Amino acid sequence: MAASRDGFEAVEVEGSAGCRGSSGMEVVFPLDPAVPAPLCPHGPTLLFVKVTQGKEETRRFYACSACRDRKDCNFFQWEDEKLSGARLAAREAHNRRCQPPLSRRQCVERYLKFIELPLTQRKFCQRCQQLLLPDDWGQHSEHQVLGDVSITQLRRPSQLLYPLENKKTNAQYLFADRSCQFLVDLLSALGFRRVLCVGTPRLHELIKLTASGDKKSNIKSLLLDIDFRYSQFYMEDSFCHYNMFNHHFFDGKTALEVCRAFLQEDKGEGIIMVTDPPFGGLVEPLAITFKKLIAMWKEGQSQDDSHKELPIFWIFPYFFESRICQFFPSFQMLDYQAIIPFFLDYRLFLFLPFKVDYDNHALYKHGKTGRKQSPVRIFTNIPPNKIILPTEEGYRFCSLCQRYVSLENQHCEHCNSCTSKDGRKWNHCFLCKKCVKPSWIHCSICNHCAVPDHSCESPKDGCFICGELDHKRSTCPNIATSKRANKSVEYFTRKMYSICVLYRIIHKSMQPSEDLEVPS
Ligand code: SAH
Ligand code: ZN
Ligand code: ZN
Ligand code: ZN
Ligand code: ZN
Repeated sequence: MAASRDGFEAVEVEGSAGCRGSSGMEVVFPLDPAVPAPLCPHGPTLLFVKVTQGKEETRRFYACSACRDRKDCNFFQWEDEKLSGARLAAREAHNRRCQPPLSRRQCVERYLKFIELPLTQRKFCQRCQQLLLPDDWGQHSEHQVLGDVSITQLRRPSQLLYPLENKKTNAQYLFADRSCQFLVDLLSALGFRRVLCVGTPRLHELIKLTASGDKKSNIKSLLLDIDFRYSQFYMEDSFCHYNMFNHHFFDGKTALEVCRAFLQEDKGEGIIMVTDPPFGGLVEPLAITFKKLIAMWKEGQSQDDSHKELPIFWIFPYFFESRICQFFPSFQMLDYQAIIPFFLDYRLFLFLPFKVDYDNHALYKHGKTGRKQSPVRIFTNIPPNKIILPTEEGYRFCSLCQRYVSLENQHCEHCNSCTSKDGRKWNHCFLCKKCVKPSWIHCSICNHCAVPDHSCESPKDGCFICGELDHKRSTCPNIATSKRANKSVEYFTRKMYSICVLYRIIHKSMQPSEDLEVPS
């Protein structure tokens, strides 16, 4: 039976509601942490359990931490399964074969050679997503090759590389320039001098560009990302090939030390971690990884700084708020809607929390009259009153809450807070004693507020599209909107794709494919 991706997600959303009752796959932690998890090409695997109608099956299994898609990584092993020596050896050989063909050092050497070449000899193979040295030209003669690669282009690899849109593994959704610039300005205004970018290649690139153009704001950045293609563009001290679901450095100790040195520089002063993980990813393994990075930073602190926290920006959809705050109680969610260019952002259509009119292509209209629709937020342990959100994009300061909020997010005197999570005005329900979404009404059968056409006391499985508990994804009223949205932006999408020059990436692991299958 194929355990669907929706299963994973449903559990995650369910988790945010604080109860179980869903079907899918859940990550669990071994009873004996001394037993090391078996390795797949992406590092230590995670232990999963299949959950059917709220009940855990007894047999647990190891699967890849990074790829929830069998075609990306088909690792599977029952927890209690004993492998023969021959199978273990075969697995090790397979893991080695799956590693990138070049070491980090070799990539850097190639890059240094590349920038020495005259402009006319600087070529980039769009099919292989690779910078070519003259010796490589022959091999790529049949491929679409971009010539005259300038230094400016080399400094913006996220524009040169095609975004990996494989939803399940890479889920690469790049920030729109406006959001990215906002983040860079914010980091600089907050006085940070180093940024650990975990899965934020475009932010990394913009920080480096800003630093090279302006000596005053000389912020340093280190990118940790699973997308190996970036290793062609950065020195060893600014990119590590990394898996954020298991804190695995593909280049071993050398890379780990690069990261440690970066975190501990200046006794750990002046650094922030910014992360934008794939949304399909489970929150718990991410939280465990971030705690490991925090611990690494802490090691470099002097004794009297032990109460300090590593400043973090975690970019994630707002409906994961309770889940994230469960792991990081000091985190608060900002109202700022971090956005990505909509022609690249399929996440929007999957996660759209409410209906919007897509016939208007200005999906991200902002300002007083415009609506903002992105569900993506920043979770942080930096006091929100220090984070000034742009008034020209429709944010205001609430002096009672001591934070910037969306204009539509009104202060509720009963809750004593600006309660809206999705940017719309929420209404206070005196029976529920809290503010609820404007479309909800109080149901006396369920004894809480819900959408008007919900079926009373339906199983609380949660919907992954809108996060609401009274229906499942298949009957989500927002699904129609998402589909319509997809259609009406189709023209624009196609156009943008042709501009971006859409080439299929030959790397096998990047092909769209089936779900993780659990042998029965
Ligand atoms: N908005 C960000 C990009 C976020 S997309 C920006 O514009 O900078 C998610 C990023 O996480 C991608 O770069 C992707 O390659 C990376 N990623 C996906 N899975 C990962 C994993 N298991 N470990 C590390 N990085 C991962
Ligand atoms: Zn090629
Ligand atoms: Zn209220
Ligand atoms: Zn109510
Ligand atoms: Zn729904």
